[in-house]
Amino acid sequence: MSAIIIDGKQVAAGIREQLKHEVAGFVAETGIQPGLATVLVGGDPASEVYVANKRRSATAAGLADLHVHLDGAASSDEIAQTIRELGENPAVSGILLQLPLPGGMDSGPLIDLIEPFKDVDGLTTTSAGLLARGKPGLRPCTPSGVVALLDSAEVPLEGAEVTIIGRSELVGAPLAQLLIQRNATVTVAHSRTRDLASVTRRSDIVIAAAGVPRLIGEAHVRPGAAVIDVGIHRTPQGLVGDVDFESVSRVAGWITPVPGGVGPMTIAMLLRNTLLAARLQHG
Ligand code: NAD
Repeated sequence: MSAIIIDGKQVAAGIREQLKHEVAGFVAETGIQPGLATVLVGGDPASEVYVANKRRSATAAGLADLHVHLDGAASSDEIAQTIRELGENPAVSGILLQLPLPGGMDSGPLIDLIEPFKDVDGLTTTSAGLLARGKPGLRPCTPSGVVALLDSAEVPLEGAEVTIIGRSELVGAPLAQLLIQRNATVTVAHSRTRDLASVTRRSDIVIAAAGVPRLIGEAHVRPGAAVIDVGIHRTPQGLVGDVDFESVSRVAGWITPVPGGVGPMTIAMLLRNTLLAARLQHG
């Protein structure tokens, strides 16, 4: 058996094209151009690449690029002040604080300064609460991207047995909520899970977000299951995920590649959230 490859690049491109029209419609209707404020602190090379991609994609979608670059030595008070100013600026529809912050600075209190209706990363405590309660709000981008990818491939979610590997606030935990709301039966595995393979093997859908290169092999996957790889690791051989693509694609029914799977979807969902945030602010 050879898995169907879910092409995240193509799905994301379709969403971004659609968004371009929606943004143009919003501008025509309201006279307001939605704006995305990316906040980068310091000069971490990987973060610089991520932010540059987000800014380029925002501009291509017709959003205003309202970038702020703070010095790596900026104090948490200075970052807090920037976030407050962006919160008050009517030209800013969405605020994204690029993580991680330098020097191991605690990002939690700073994220919670983002106005919930501008929280396009969906990471504030308020957004997490709205998600947990199933109330409307801005959802985290990577988990939303995973669900959109599964939908694009028409992988049935209702009643499906899903294992998510990872319970982080960024990926695993919100993804579990989103999938429960789609009526999946969700298991969340983590670093203390005993016998991971026995858990994943009973699943119709396996989503790997552990941050461990090639953790998931053929023995973890039931034939025909859908396997979504959230992991990203830079190795001398190039980017790899949490899934051993070559062996798993022989048994899985669907699989996402790295790169070109979940990554492009994260940006597409960020752009979608920015337009949604503008709608929330301007009716
Ligand atoms: P994290 O380190 O915060 O969380 C990892 C989770 O995996 C933890 O809950 C931990 O308990 C679990 N885990 C670790 N080792 C495990 C093991 N051996 N077995 C089972 N569970 C294990 O990481 P994160 O922020 O959730 O990110 C996870 C991965 O996804 C990373 O590789 C990250 O780079 C990637 N990521 C990709 C995107 C994207 O856009 N594609 C976005 C965010 C994160």
